[in-house]
Amino acid sequence: MYHYLRNRRNQRHFPFPFIENFLPTKHCNWPFSTFTVQTPNANPNFEAVPSNFHAHSPQRPNLLSTHNLTSTHPAAPSLDKSPPFDQNSLNDIISSNKIITSYIRSGDLSSALRVFGNMTVKTTVTWNAMLAGYSRKPGKLTEAQKLFDQIPEKDTVSYNIMLAGYVQNSDMETVWSFFNSMPSKDIASWNTMISGFAQKGAMAKARELFLAMPAKNSVTWSAMISGYVECGALELAEEFFEFAAVKSVVAWTAMISGYLKFGKIKKAERLFKEMPVKNLVTWNAMIAGYVENCRAEDGLKIFRIMLRYGIRPNHSSLSSVLLGCSELSALQLGKQVHQLVCKSLLRDDTTACTSLISMYCKCGVLDDAWKLFLETKSKDIVSWNAMISGYAQHGAGEKALHLFEEMRGEGIKPDWITFVAVLLACNHAGLVDIGVRYFDSMVKDYGVEPRPDHYTCMVDLLGRAGKLVEAVDLIKKMPFKPHSAIFGTLLGACRIHKNLELAEFAAQNLLNLDPQSAAGYVQLANVYAATNKWDHVARVRRSMKDNKVVKTPGYSWIEIKNTVHEFRSGDRVHPELASIHEKLNELEKKMKLAGYVPDLESALHDVGEEQKEQLLLWHSEKLAIAFGLIVVPYGTPIRVFKNLRVCGDCHRAIKYISAIERREIILRDTVRFHHFMGGCCSCGDYW
Ligand SMILES: [Zn+2]
Ligand SMILES: [Zn+2]
Repeated sequence: MYHYLRNRRNQRHFPFPFIENFLPTKHCNWPFSTFTVQTPNANPNFEAVPSNFHAHSPQRPNLLSTHNLTSTHPAAPSLDKSPPFDQNSLNDIISSNKIITSYIRSGDLSSALRVFGNMTVKTTVTWNAMLAGYSRKPGKLTEAQKLFDQIPEKDTVSYNIMLAGYVQNSDMETVWSFFNSMPSKDIASWNTMISGFAQKGAMAKARELFLAMPAKNSVTWSAMISGYVECGALELAEEFFEFAAVKSVVAWTAMISGYLKFGKIKKAERLFKEMPVKNLVTWNAMIAGYVENCRAEDGLKIFRIMLRYGIRPNHSSLSSVLLGCSELSALQLGKQVHQLVCKSLLRDDTTACTSLISMYCKCGVLDDAWKLFLETKSKDIVSWNAMISGYAQHGAGEKALHLFEEMRGEGIKPDWITFVAVLLACNHAGLVDIGVRYFDSMVKDYGVEPRPDHYTCMVDLLGRAGKLVEAVDLIKKMPFKPHSAIFGTLLGACRIHKNLELAEFAAQNLLNLDPQSAAGYVQLANVYAATNKWDHVARVRRSMKDNKVVKTPGYSWIEIKNTVHEFRSGDRVHPELASIHEKLNELEKKMKLAGYVPDLESALHDVGEEQKEQLLLWHSEKLAIAFGLIVVPYGTPIRVFKNLRVCGDCHRAIKYISAIERREIILRDTVRFHHFMGGCCSCGDYW
C-alpha cells in the first residue's frame, strides 16, 4: 500500500497522493482561485475585537506622523511649529516604533517599555503602540489608563485602543461611559462596542448600538451574526446575514458554524457551496461539523477536498479528522493523516500528536499509540490522559496504572479525566482495593470532585468483585441524582452474579429514568432467563412492546484496504457471503472438537440486542471475523467493531477461533476492547 503511494507521489509530485482517488462532487466544483487562507488560528465565530488598531481602523496610521511629535527633552522646542528633526531622527523614531510594535506583538511588554523609555522623542503612534500593549494585557488596565492620560495629543486611534482595553478587561458600564466621553468616534469605535457586547451575549445592547451606528462595514455585520449564532438565536443570525450589505468570510463562516451547531447540515452545505471566499477556519468548521453530527465520513471527504485544493491543515483540522477516523475506525486514513503530520510543521505539535495517539488507541493499535507517545516531545495532561485511557480501555490495566504513576513522578497533576481512566484501569485489571484507594485519593490528595463517570466506574469495580450491596450503598451516597448509566452498570453486574433481587432494583430505576432503554429490558430479561423465570421474561418482552421500545439493530464492521465492510446479523447482502458461511461451518466443526459448546442462552438473551433472532453462528461479529480470516493476511491482527455489546456466545466462540486460527482478534464493542489471543480475552470474561 505505502509502496504504491510512494511511487505515485514520485510520479506526480503531488503532496497528498491518497486523496487522488477522490473526485469533487457537484457540490464542490469551485475553482481553486477563490480560496484564500487567512488567520488560520482565528476563532471561527468572532472577528478579532478591533483592539488591534491596525486591523480595522480606516485611519490606519503611518508609523510616523510628524505633526504629532512630542518630546520628553526639557529643552524641546514647540513641536507644532518647526520640528527640528533631521531625516536621521525621523528614521530613528520610525525604527523604534517598529521595534516597540514587534515586542508588543510577541507579548514582551517589558522590552517594549525599555525602548519606549529610551526614546527622547515620541509620536502619538509611539504612544498608541505602547498603549495597545497595556490595554490588551489582562490586569494591566490601570497602567493603560495612566499611559492614556499621559498621551499629549490623543487621536481617535488612542481612544479606540483604550476603548478596546475596557471592552476586554472591564464591565460594560465603564465601557459605555468611556464610549460616551469620546470626542470623536469612527467606525472602529462603534465596531469595538458592538463586538464587545455581542461577545458578552448582550445582543439587545449590541443591536441598539447597531441601529444607532451611522455607517456599518463588514466587521459590524459579522459581529452581529456571530453574536446571534453564539447565543443560539439562529433565526436572528439568519435575518442579519440575509440583509448584510457586506458579508465577510467571517460572517459566512459564523453562519455555517451556526447551522452545523444546530444540526442543519443541508443549509450549512448550501452556504459553503455558495460562499465566494473560504478560509481555513471555514473548512475546519465544515469538517468538525460533519464529525460532530455523526457524519464522519463526509468530514473526511471534505478534508480530502481541502487538501486537494492545496489548503494546509492546522492542528484544529487534524484533530477533527482524526476524531472522524476514530469514530469510523478508519485506521488507514488515520495513518495517512499521521504521515501528513510528520511532513508538516505540526510534527512537534502536542495537540496534533495527542490526536494521533487517541486515534491509534481508538482504532485498537496500542503499539503505534505508544511509539508516538514516546516520540511526543512535550507531553501535556491531555497526551498522558489519551495514553492512560487507551491502555485502560484495552484492558491493559496494569500498564495504565504504571503510566499513571510515571506521570505523577513527572510532577503532572492529574485531572478528572485521568481518574476516570485510572478507575477504568483498576476495573479492567480487577484491582478492586486499589481502585477504592485511588477514588479516595482523588478527592483528598488532588481535590478532584467526583463526577458521575467516576461513580459509574466505582459501581462497575465493586460489581465485578461481586460487592453488589456496597455498589448500591455507593449509589445511595452519591452527592447528585443517580443517572441511568449507573443503574445500567449495576444491572450488568447483577446479571453476571445472577442476583435477581438487586437486578430488579437496578432495572426498575434504569427504566424509570430511561423508559426507552432497550438495554435495560434486555438485561432484565436476561437475568430472569438465567434464573429460569420464563413468565417474567415474557412480561418484560410485553412491556417492552407496550412502551414501543426501539431496539438498535446489531451490526459489526471491519476495514479492509480503506473500505469498510458492514455486516448485519444473519446478513444476506455481502457479496462474499458464501465463502464466509463456508468458513464459519468449517470453524464450527473445529471449535466443537476443541470443546466449544454453543451458549444457547445467548441466542435467547440477545433477542433484544440483535434485531432478529438468528442462528448464533450468523451473529454479525462472527460474520465480520470470518471475513477477516479470509482476507486479512496471516500475522496481521483482525480488527472488528460492533455497535452493541458482544454476546456471550460470540465472546466464547472468538476465544476458540483465536486459538484454532492462531490469530490476534481485536473486537471493540460499545463497552470496551476485547483482545483475543491464544484462546483468552484481555477482558478476563467480564464486560
Ligand atoms: Zn453474538
Ligand atoms: Zn472479552
